[in-house]
Amino acid sequence: MRVTAAVVDELGGPFHVEELDLDEPGPGEALVRVVASGICHTDTITRHGDLPMPFPAVLGHEGAGEVVAVGDGVTSVRPGDHVVIGWPSCGTCRNCRDGEPRYCARLGEALCGGGRLLGPRAGQSALRRPDGSQVHSHFFGQSSFSTHALTWADALVVVPSDAPLELLGPLACGIATGAGAVLNTVKPAPGSSLVIYGAGAVGLAAVMAARLSPATKIIAVDRHPSRLELAMEFGATHTIDASQADPVAEVHRICDGPADHALECTGVIPVVRQAADSVGMLGTCVLIGGAPAGAEFALDHLTTLWGKRIVGTLGGSGRSETLIPTLIELHRQGRFPFDRLVRFYDLADIETALQDSHRGEVLKPVLRLTSSPS
Ligand SMILES: [Zn+2]
Ligand SMILES: [Zn+2]
Repeated sequence: MRVTAAVVDELGGPFHVEELDLDEPGPGEALVRVVASGICHTDTITRHGDLPMPFPAVLGHEGAGEVVAVGDGVTSVRPGDHVVIGWPSCGTCRNCRDGEPRYCARLGEALCGGGRLLGPRAGQSALRRPDGSQVHSHFFGQSSFSTHALTWADALVVVPSDAPLELLGPLACGIATGAGAVLNTVKPAPGSSLVIYGAGAVGLAAVMAARLSPATKIIAVDRHPSRLELAMEFGATHTIDASQADPVAEVHRICDGPADHALECTGVIPVVRQAADSVGMLGTCVLIGGAPAGAEFALDHLTTLWGKRIVGTLGGSGRSETLIPTLIELHRQGRFPFDRLVRFYDLADIETALQDSHRGEVLKPVLRLTSSPS
């Protein structure tokens, strides 16, 4: 079928909106009409080569929409279902079988192999230009900067038909990453303290999730006063402007010692060290933000020996089919107001959306691709 998509032709190149041909769903696959797709930092760093996606390609990995067709053998979804396109995984490796599909052993291939991970057409792209030349597909199993996406049906998370579909795509990645780091990885104990470095979409989602926990100190660190104000509205108990003060010293002052947990959402290497230094004995520092490919960081050896845990997390850990419906229900109850981070753009304005995001004017840009089901 003919679709309209934003294509990146080469490493670092711009997005061009063009018409492409997309395969019909084969066994195990589903065709999703994408209503909207969030834009995530990972789309930007992939365009610049930090993930090894082959080009030309269609990026986008925060898609939500309506199932319009399914291939042979698909029973988990049917046409008309409203879905968020969840994290891709093989379903058969040890981590997948142990309930940790975010850490699928075939993750690299699943996220940026440029084609299908599974099924009779594994390895093949689903997209072509009208002249027949190949365009790589299946970025994070979806390539959602397109009016339609061909996905593995088991990766889809069915959502209530009265939920605001155009908002829900970011629950597959950016928003889930921040919230899941708190709810799945840290699981704050009563009275614990948490410091969140970086109050962008991921960090603010972490702040919102922390407010739903029994943590009593929620400290947001950023260099933009407007983001720190938002953090206070979303549940931070304290903020630190890192352009004005040494955040590690401030954390120790606020907590009367080190914090129990630090969440590093920036991917900026000196900030990784600050996050690690913000927690003490038996403390946990969670690495969330994506740094450039090949980046390394250093730690103080002695104070890390003191039972400190440095742990990475992808996509908020846990399972999409648990986390996404939970966040939708918390949003419906008014307890997880992530919609306040979102600004909508048309597909044709994708470069404007990226520039606005880069300048910090918008926290979570979302592209509208097709009309919302009524
Ligand atoms: Zn797997
Ligand atoms: Zn993402």
